Amino acid sequence: MNYFSYHTHSTFCDGKNSPEEMVVRAIELGLTAIGFSSHAPLPVKQSWSMPSEKLTNYVAEIKGLRKKFKAEIQIYLSLEIDYIPGLTNSFSEFTKVADLDYTIGSVHLVKADSDTEFWFLDGPDTNYIHGIEVLFDGDAKKAVTAYYEQLIEMVETQKPDVIAHADKVKMNSKGRFFSEKETWYLELVDRTIRAIKQNGSIVEINSRGIYKKKSTSFFPDHYFLEECQKNSIPVTISSDAHHVDELVAGFDLAEKRLKEFGFQSIRLFEEGHWIEHFL
Ligand SMILES: [Zn+2]
Ligand SMILES: [Zn+2]
Repeated sequence: MNYFSYHTHSTFCDGKNSPEEMVVRAIELGLTAIGFSSHAPLPVKQSWSMPSEKLTNYVAEIKGLRKKFKAEIQIYLSLEIDYIPGLTNSFSEFTKVADLDYTIGSVHLVKADSDTEFWFLDGPDTNYIHGIEVLFDGDAKKAVTAYYEQLIEMVETQKPDVIAHADKVKMNSKGRFFSEKETWYLELVDRTIRAIKQNGSIVEINSRGIYKKKSTSFFPDHYFLEECQKNSIPVTISSDAHHVDELVAGFDLAEKRLKEFGFQSIRLFEEGHWIEHFL
């Protein structure tokens, strides 16, 4: 099938290639569309999101590329927006200010009781372990619960079009701090699925952990994905590319995985709408 890469980073945030380099490779690969989704500006000090002063240039650059390559590929404008309760700007505000085609919602920084430090799920596992020990008193269940509750709150209050890497909280645990089979974990997944169902968001099956060899499963996979299928939650495939070589990395495997779980279609973004595309 002709794939569409809608979750794509660039040098405007922590990506390694310029948007134009990503577009040129997407055309070479025969993609039908590419959507840019830099990490939205965040009021928390870190190294991976777009500085707020670059947002105007980002919007102008993506719109310029859309015009330039109009005959060859559809180009969409989005942001991967982090949600931290009481701290981050609303998704509707970003949509308005940046004229976004769609929003991707994610939780990388989990709020604990501390107002100055967050539990960072990504990057090396030293951050992850430090967060559980210091911010959640060594209680992984408490930490994972805080993650899913923040994700649910994002779904309910921000209503993102797409939920990014929904169970990424498992990545740095690698089965050491909790098992995805524990009852309390399954209940958190159930609560999350209910919120997603009620709010109509799309769940992406994100292949980044697989091709970066940081995870042996997709985000999400296993019970989470199975419940998406049972509850008829729409899904799409994403590579979360940060480099031209990653644009469709792991897509074939992801498609195979979805079929194993009984999914018959994915959602693709076309002319302003998420449409159903049969596998
Ligand atoms: Zn992300
Ligand atoms: Zn991303």
